[in-house]
Amino acid sequence: QKQYLSGFAFGTDVARAVSNLPIISGSGGNSGNGTSLKIGDGPATIDGTAFPTRPENIALQAQADTESAGGKLCNEEKAKREKNPLDMWDEIAARSDAGEFPKGTDVFLTKFHGLFYVAPAQDSFMCRMRIPGGLLYGWQFRGLADLSDVSAGGYIDVTTRANLQYREIPADQAANILYGIRELDVVSLGSGGDNIRNCTASALSGIDTTELVETIPMAKRMHHYILNHREMYGLPRKFNIAFDGGGSIASLDDTNDIGFRAVTVPPKHASDDLPAGVYFQLTLGGITGHKDFARPTGVLLDGKDCYEVAGGIVRVFVKSGDRTDRKKARLKYVLDDWGFDKFIAAVEEEIGKPLRRVSEDRIVSVDNEDRLAHVGFHTQAQAGKQYCGVVLPVGRITSDQARQLSDIADELGNGEIRFTVWQNLIIPNIRDEDVDEVRRRIEAMGLGCDASSFRAGLVACTGSAGCKFAASDTKADAMRIAKHLESQFTLDSPINIHVTGCHHSCAQHYIGDIGLIGCKVEQDDDMVDGYHIHLGGGWGGNQGIGRLACEFVTAVNAPTTVAAIVGSYLEQRNDNETFIE
Ligand code: SF4
Repeated sequence: QKQYLSGFAFGTDVARAVSNLPIISGSGGNSGNGTSLKIGDGPATIDGTAFPTRPENIALQAQADTESAGGKLCNEEKAKREKNPLDMWDEIAARSDAGEFPKGTDVFLTKFHGLFYVAPAQDSFMCRMRIPGGLLYGWQFRGLADLSDVSAGGYIDVTTRANLQYREIPADQAANILYGIRELDVVSLGSGGDNIRNCTASALSGIDTTELVETIPMAKRMHHYILNHREMYGLPRKFNIAFDGGGSIASLDDTNDIGFRAVTVPPKHASDDLPAGVYFQLTLGGITGHKDFARPTGVLLDGKDCYEVAGGIVRVFVKSGDRTDRKKARLKYVLDDWGFDKFIAAVEEEIGKPLRRVSEDRIVSVDNEDRLAHVGFHTQAQAGKQYCGVVLPVGRITSDQARQLSDIADELGNGEIRFTVWQNLIIPNIRDEDVDEVRRRIEAMGLGCDASSFRAGLVACTGSAGCKFAASDTKADAMRIAKHLESQFTLDSPINIHVTGCHHSCAQHYIGDIGLIGCKVEQDDDMVDGYHIHLGGGWGGNQGIGRLACEFVTAVNAPTTVAAIVGSYLEQRNDNETFIE
């Protein structure tokens, strides 16, 4: 450190480099090269020209515009204005050294670094990471498992954004968690708060026999675009981006604020300015918790243009999103207010070029989805190779299991581990002759890859065991429901059961075949955990918002109620009629 400081202070190379810069004195003085910097009242200038507005300041400008238009900023906006959450690193480290949790608005601001203080549900932090495209390597997953043993709860949760979370992090381990994941090439910046969440992609990118185009590299590129543009932080509210390559595992792009969906333009609909090939359809405004899917905008993009367009969309949203009412602060509400034409025109102005509109009848959308493709062994596009989808009940995996799965990926795959939006994981590139050994080792660690299990389609949010918003203990209840169903029925067609704890709908209950949302139920003069149950939700080609079927079912009665629904479906269906049909 001493060497570094003395080099910085006195090193001749640094001094020479600085003396050549066109900046200079703080109060109108002159530099060695005659260029003057003026700082005083009004904007700072260089040689009479105002500094360009810093990109992140568009959020501050939007706040000022809101107030000058008579709007009252909500508390979160005021907190962001008073302190840039991206500048809190030292504070977080100091608090961690002191073994303290954040207080007041710092609880919200600390989420910008991926740290959620989850009291009163648990007196600890949750840490959400960013795993773009859901892809990690064995050495990283093994390291994350070791870190969980030292600084968190000894397990890792897979989320519905193909992402990972730690829980039960004591106050004095917060900094250690952030240092630890960074040393494993994993970041958490912007994974919480008013930011763009983990970018998702098709989990079988590059190994799928049916996909149109690889999308994990696109999610990774988008991720790095976000990390390196400070104006991508400090949005009016959270924001989701997904890429779907048209393969057999859905990325649920239609539930995202921005969905990039691969489609084709066949030769018969091609023209000079639109050659036949694969493109990305731009869809906007998905937010299933508010009962809305992303809708096509008519814009068709080359893959290479998606990042710049996404950046333009985010900047327009930063300027135009509601900063007074958190419930109305998502992109959907700007779109509802403006309409797509006005919004796309604003994006074009933002990026300085027109976007190509193509009518739907020139585009061919594919529906290659196989609802069981995320579980069990399947052949890959590469001859002699298979991938294995491992069921992680409600997305939770112990550190020991994570280490053992990393060993399998390293020894019998190519080191890759891929997480899916269905809260499970995939080990790709297994040689045909190693399939039995992989299955044996997965079963030996207490996990499975059986697609006929109800657990294969089970999705649950954190629930009251770790989230203050929850009305019910979703993960535990989901497991009890699955256990009861498995004791009653053998499943021969996929049924998704989504169990979410509150209206934030992290487990997307509206798109489940059977969707449960937590509520409190009055029983014997007491309030107990319970659920409202929705039926018939879907996504992609079977898009649908589940309809309310039963209200105020106690958590204790949820397994038998869901069993009655499943039993009725199995009894009354015609031939291969699916649940949503
Ligand atoms: Fe918490 Fe609600 Fe999200 Fe569940 S849906 S994790 S209860 S915020």
